This record gives sequence, C-alpha cells and structure tokens, in this order.
Amino acid sequence: MRYSIFSLARAALSGHRNWKPTWRDASPNGPYDVVIVGGGGHGLATAYYLAKVHGISKVAVIEKGWIGGGNAGRNTTIIRSNYGLDGNVPFYEWSMKLWEGLEQDLNYNAMISQRGVLNLYHSDGQRDAFARRGNAMRLHGVDAELLDQDGVRKIAPFLNFEHARFPIQGGLLQPRGGTARHDAVVWGYARAASDRGVDIIQNCEVTGFARASDGRVTGVETNRGTIGCDKVAVAVAGNSSRVAAMAGLRLPIESHVLQAFVTEALKPILPGVITFGGGHFYVSQSDKGGLVFGGDIDGYNSYAQRGNLPVVEDVCEGGMAIMPMIGRVRMLRSWGGIVDMSMDGSPIIDRSPIPGLYLNAGWCYGGFKATPASGWCFAHLIARDEPHITAAAFRLDRFATGHLIDEKGQGAQPNLH
Ligand SMILES: Cc1cc2nc3c(=O)[nH]c(=O)nc-3n(C[C@H](O)[C@H](O)[C@H](O)COP(=O)(O)OP(=O)(O)OC[C@H]3O[C@@H](n4cnc5c(N)ncnc54)[C@H](O)[C@@H]3O)c2cc1C
Repeated sequence: MRYSIFSLARAALSGHRNWKPTWRDASPNGPYDVVIVGGGGHGLATAYYLAKVHGISKVAVIEKGWIGGGNAGRNTTIIRSNYGLDGNVPFYEWSMKLWEGLEQDLNYNAMISQRGVLNLYHSDGQRDAFARRGNAMRLHGVDAELLDQDGVRKIAPFLNFEHARFPIQGGLLQPRGGTARHDAVVWGYARAASDRGVDIIQNCEVTGFARASDGRVTGVETNRGTIGCDKVAVAVAGNSSRVAAMAGLRLPIESHVLQAFVTEALKPILPGVITFGGGHFYVSQSDKGGLVFGGDIDGYNSYAQRGNLPVVEDVCEGGMAIMPMIGRVRMLRSWGGIVDMSMDGSPIIDRSPIPGLYLNAGWCYGGFKATPASGWCFAHLIARDEPHITAAAFRLDRFATGHLIDEKGQGAQPNLH
C-alpha cells in the first residue's frame, strides 16, 4: 500500500478500517542468501539496500525482541555529519545525503527535520579546534559555519552568556543537521524491506552459529530452530560482544549504559539541536514540545537498559549550565540503552576473520545518524565482498595495526582516562 494524501483520504472515508499492517510478520523460511542478526535501524537498512541496490532479497532479519525495541527507539534522534577526520567525514556526509531523500525513497514519514546542530565553544582553544573541524567539513563539501557570540545570540538568545562557569564564546553550526523520528525510521525501513520480499522475524533470538567443517558460517541457531544461509551479517548494536563471542570472537568494544530524558511539553523554544562544549549535554525539542536531552554514558560496563542517578544529576547540571531556565521544567521520563563503545570512538563495518560472517558494530553513542549509510555500506560489503569507499576505514584490524580513527583524540585506551 503506497501512502499518499489520496490513500489517507480513502482510508478516512472508509472509517480507517482498511489500513494494512505496515510490514509482513514472517516466520523462519530458510535457507536464505543472507541472514541479518538484529532488527534495529542498521539491520533493517542493510536488508533494504541489499534488496534494492544489489537485488538480493532472499534475506531474513532476525530480531530477538520487537522492531524498534533497541537503541533505534531509544536514542535522542540527532542526525549530523560534523566530523573532522578523513575516515569519518565522507561516510557521515553520505548518510546525511541519504537522510535528505529517505522519506521519498521509503514512502514513509520519518519526520526528518534539518533544524540545525549548534556545538557551543567556551574558550579560544576550543574555537580553534572547531574552526579546524569546520574547515575540514567544508573541504569535504559539508556545510559548516563558525559563529561568534553575537551569531549564537541571534539563534539562541536564552542561553547563559553572561554569568556562566563556562562563558559561551560562539559555536560551530551545521545548518543541515537536525533530528529524525527514531522509531519511524525503523518502521519505514522495515516496511520498505518487507515490500521487497525480506522476511522480518521478530521474537527470535540468535543463540549460536552453525559452522561447516572448514569453519565457515552456514547459518544461525535460534530459539526457533536453525536457519541456514550463505552469509550472516551481525548488526546488534549494544550486544555485539555477546553475539560475536558465540562465534569465538573477542571485539575491541566495551558496553555501557547511555541515558536519555524528556520533559513535559513546552511551546516552541529551541530552534534546533544545541550541545554544550564545556561538559556533555545535548538538547533538542520534539514536535510534541518536550525537551529531549542526554549527556555522558554511565561509565561502568552493563547490559541493563536503565541508568543511575549520578548521571541524571550530571546531565541536568550540564543543562543548567548553559540554559538555567530549564530548571523550571518538569522531567517526564528517562530511559537507558546499551551502547557499544569502540576504543577509538569509530565503528566497525568489516568482514570478520570467520568466512561468511560480517560485522557491523561499535557505534558508541552516535550510530543513529549513521543508519542509512551504515545499511548502504554494509549491504555493499556483504553483496560484493569489498568495502564501500566511504566506509573503507572502519576495519576491524585497525586496533591491531594502529590505524585508528581517533576523532576525539583520546588515544587507543579512552577507558583508562
Ligand atoms: C540513550 C541513547 C541516545 C542516543 N542518541 C543518539 C543520537 O542522538 N544520535 C545518534 O546518532 N545516535 C544516538 N544513539 C546511538 C544509536 O541509537 C545507536 O548507535 C544505533 O541505534 C545502533 O544501531 P541499531 O539501530 O541497529 O541498534 P538497535 O536498535 O539496538 O538494534 C540492534 C537489535 O539487535 C537485537 N539483538 C541483540 N542481540 C540479538 C540476538 N542474539 N538475536 C537477535 N537479535 C538480537 C536487539 O534486540 C536490537 O533490536 C543513542 C543511543 C542511546 C542508547
């Protein structure tokens, strides 16, 4: 069923009784060409582009829970391509370009809103670093504007410029950055992949891998039986180490909780996404009016999808530091998700050392914005057995060879800082 103003009118005239399910709820029906483990944004986007771009539609997406129940439906919805390093910028800009045409491509309203992402700076040194990043972005054809204090005042006059612990000197603005409705993105990809013949199998947990005598992966073992396939693609976000361990692999990843928060609805106040440069705090306003914000990871390894109060306090302090007015708004909800932190902050899209097994992992707290390009590049790798040009740096062996993509400049062991 194609969605349009006419289908909406037709459905309204028939009392909204004729809507079809958004996607087919499939049961295992192998063998498949490709089994994708993980029905989050990345897994579903991979399935969609395998079918659409590479003509491979004998594909199953295996999800242990329900579509959108993982990080895809838990994140703070920020999309941007304001990176500085060669290994990252072309990839994230490719993602931004895919976001810009995504709703038309999927025929699904994902509420993509390019309302701008503003990173505040608070010192001369930080201004210089942002200028460098902005210049690197512009060299790659990405939009970036370095604003002084007056420039920031014009966009966000309510910020705490005068009496702050970290006075705001200016900001780096990416006007094309913004937000997208996170669960609509997964529903849109699920619907479009299902339309092209992909089986989306929910409530099916992968518990191991079937292997041939030469070690090659020949399928997945699940709580609904063994499902045979030629290739297995793992895209399980916060569970990468656990799933890789089922194949005997140890990944350079630590799993942490990241929390998100939403307040009661307010009239429109925030023009776009604003991030604090003196601490870890980022905020936007949802279409319903709630302020959606978050900060740092909880800082200890965990698979529990809930966080603790010290980080709640820390995040709220960050918010109060740049916009004290939010102290008067009531917080409605908070939740947590598991983020797989790679040791250089950049992801892995690569073949594994095991034939037939492909890895998409290590998205840290920033993989939502990557969803379209991650799916595109992972599908390319699986279909052609060679990396897509924009994701060629996201190799698994870079942690052994030292070719890190260290965007934050934290070195190879940020966990020891
Ligand atoms: C609180 C929070 C805020 C964030 N904010 C942002 C942001 O503003 N911008 C941004 O770019 N990124 C953000 N992120 C990161 C982003 O959400 C993730 O990097 C991204 O969603 C991960 O990819 P995914 O959508 O495929 O993950 P998921 O939706 O987590 O998909 C993985 C799926 O694999 C399934 N799975 C796991 N194990 C198995 C198994 N054994 N068998 C079958 N299925 C399995 C899980 O159930 C899950 O549904 C945030 C993350 C969190 C937690």
